[in-house]
Amino acid sequence: MANEAKEEEQQNQPLGHTDLAHKTLLQSDALYQYILETSVFPREHECLKELREMTQKHPKNLMATPPDEGQLLNMLIKLMNAKNTMEIGVYTGYSLLSTALALPPDGKIFALDVNREYYDLGLPIIEKAGVAHKIDFREGPALPVLDEMLKDEKKKGTFDFCFVDADKDNYLNYHKRVIDLVKVGGMIAYDNTLWAGSVVAPPDAPLMDYIKHGRGYLMELNKYVAQDSRIEICQLPVGDGITLCRRII
Ligand code: SAM
Ligand code: CA
Repeated sequence: MANEAKEEEQQNQPLGHTDLAHKTLLQSDALYQYILETSVFPREHECLKELREMTQKHPKNLMATPPDEGQLLNMLIKLMNAKNTMEIGVYTGYSLLSTALALPPDGKIFALDVNREYYDLGLPIIEKAGVAHKIDFREGPALPVLDEMLKDEKKKGTFDFCFVDADKDNYLNYHKRVIDLVKVGGMIAYDNTLWAGSVVAPPDAPLMDYIKHGRGYLMELNKYVAQDSRIEICQLPVGDGITLCRRII
């Protein structure tokens, strides 16, 4: 009886990071480093490594996709046999190059970013990797481009995969548009959906300004996609959180 009472008491406790039943294994920076050194870096394409190291010297390097997430994107693209893809938010191109390397020779990425200067930093390395021909880069805000595409019925339901990693303010606006551009069975991946863990921070938590600014938008998207019956979702705690949405209708 004493044991049963103890078990019941334990079951009523909120799950802590060290509990066996807790499914998140990453408990330390050392464990993350282990993943990188054991599984990611030895298999990272030499041009991805060069792009990552170049980006590390850039003042806005915090924006770059981490290499384990690049590996995940690469795997997803191949598993899906994706051919026609879109990326919203390119920066210097780490996720773009991960995608381009995974696509077949005739695969395409429609890539959107307001700032071409960032893309131009990575472009020589993307060219060296031999995949620049797969990329159709457009400079400018993404929303009007998506709206224009949606006017063309032939463009609807044509993308296999879309990676959304631009301005967080517009994530819900992107979702409302991209859902009609991705085909049934295709996938949208939203990046940074755990937003440095701030999605569970108390409202008065001392957060950095950009975290405070984006938090509500990420929470809004997370709530929206959780009840959107047009998709199935999977929230992965990789990188800063990535939410995979598979269009089902
Ligand atoms: N996916 C990139 C990578 O792997 O390194 C990181 C993208 S970074 C987090 C966000 C990018 O979104 C920036 O390069 C920024 O210029 C771009 N951006 C911001 N607002 C945008 C908008 N309204 N439309 C398109 N791109 C935008
Ligand atoms: Ca990101």
